[in-house]
Amino acid sequence: AARLKQGLSKSRNHMAKSLAAVFGGGKIDEDLYEELETVLLTSDMGIEATEKLLAQVRQRVTLKGLKNGNELRSALKEALYELLLPLQQPLILPTDKKPFVIMMAGVNGAGKTTSIGKLAKYFQGQGKSVLLAAGDTFRAAAREQLQQWGERNNVTVIAQESGDSAAVCFDALEAAKARGIDVVLADTAGRLPTQLHLMEEIKKVKRVLQKSLPEAPHEVMLVLDANVGQNAINQVVSFDDALGLTGLIVSKLDGTAKGGILAALAAKRPIPVRFIGVGEGIDDLRPFDARAFVDALIE
Ligand code: GDP
Repeated sequence: AARLKQGLSKSRNHMAKSLAAVFGGGKIDEDLYEELETVLLTSDMGIEATEKLLAQVRQRVTLKGLKNGNELRSALKEALYELLLPLQQPLILPTDKKPFVIMMAGVNGAGKTTSIGKLAKYFQGQGKSVLLAAGDTFRAAAREQLQQWGERNNVTVIAQESGDSAAVCFDALEAAKARGIDVVLADTAGRLPTQLHLMEEIKKVKRVLQKSLPEAPHEVMLVLDANVGQNAINQVVSFDDALGLTGLIVSKLDGTAKGGILAALAAKRPIPVRFIGVGEGIDDLRPFDARAFVDALIE
């Protein structure tokens, strides 16, 4: 919890500063609601989430007969918690699906490769054997980076000097089946949803994985940089429409003062947030916990 608090300190400080006036103890009136609205919007929550939250806060004020701004704190926290709770669906590996195949997607620099390294450690910590597929065949540096994460975690990395992403991922899955591996983490190249040929390429990776194991990939995970603001929603919607996302990793929450992006997601496209990234280190990946998140965001 301490690490989470530290990771979200920029967002919390931003919220605290801008909420100070709202919670300052003044009378609850339309001006105050307007101020609250501005705070939520400038925290990247987006219009839908902001309106939902405001409606919930108003309802609580009426129900509980709240009079002062300082009584709004818990009303806001509860409303935010309720909004975010549906996103809290931890990734629990079923024992009867082996190997469990996780395909990673995202734009360049979102944190895919780093997240794979963190996930490898996380699953190993649960006693699972892990294998990595270096499916980012566009950048040699990506393959090397993945190999470093593999060495650090002492897990096998399946890579090819040349060849396409689908072929590498297929080989990795075949190797995992042969070796009785529990979890396969398949990296893919970064791409923008507007790069249609690259979107076709990642759809092919998915299809080819299914040729090795019909139910694979069990998890299609988008890694989303928390710093991209409202653009995050476009990314989620586009990747979801193309691939059918089953989970998200929201990375770099430590780098943003606008942790509100999760609320925007909850209101617009509530894909389960499996993990959040709160730093560059191997342990800086946390299963998303709505209560802990709200407590870290608003004191
Ligand atoms: P990829 O292109 O999607 O594979 O992105 P990378 O995994 O190479 O990450 C891009 C950069 O973001 C690297 O410098 C990572 O160390 C950094 N990064 C990834 N996740 C986090 C995070 O949760 N917090 C911070 N501060 N940096 C991160």
